[in-house]
Amino acid sequence: MDGQEEEDLPPVFTTVPTKQKIVFLTIDDGAEKDPDFLRMMSELKVPYTAFLSNYLIEEDYGYFRRMQALGVTLDNHTLTHPYLPGLTYEEQKDEICGMQAVMKRQFGKAPTVFRPPYGNYNGDTLRAAKACGIKYAPLWDEEVFVDHWEYRDWDRSLHPGDIVLTHFRGRDDWDGTMVDDMRRFLNKVTREGYAVARLEDYL
Ligand SMILES: [Zn+2]
Repeated sequence: MDGQEEEDLPPVFTTVPTKQKIVFLTIDDGAEKDPDFLRMMSELKVPYTAFLSNYLIEEDYGYFRRMQALGVTLDNHTLTHPYLPGLTYEEQKDEICGMQAVMKRQFGKAPTVFRPPYGNYNGDTLRAAKACGIKYAPLWDEEVFVDHWEYRDWDRSLHPGDIVLTHFRGRDDWDGTMVDDMRRFLNKVTREGYAVARLEDYL
């Protein structure tokens, strides 16, 4: 593999360079499909990006079509949420391109943004993603749970341009609803003087 080709691979990043006090909200997987969450986010006009895995959304594509109709960008998070570095190049390509095809069919377009499950990837992941039409592979710098935050950086605080992760989870997975989870996210972000921006607008 020559250097030029490596340079063209989708970039992986946890923060978007900016001086503005903004963060980006990304929500992964798709297990919980809470109508109150859709209502809350649309009433409060909070932008977010959804990274979807087919095995969790195939039982109710309609929920995510409603989300898309509210202006949310739906992105690729593989067909079955595997640990990608444990797979061959061809297997990884099937996971990523397969999800591109599902999204084209169900939501009208194949995304250009992809997040590897668990944030785990190798060179084959990025080469496969590129072959499937992916341009960006954002990870995250902080993760919100319904009862706490987790940080990747030692300073345990938000920075301008940080990407924040949470999950479509409800009472089956943790002690609260999506609405409770969003309340925790918004409380900290607004208390620290940040606004929430749309990731796609800054790529
Ligand atoms: Zn995931």
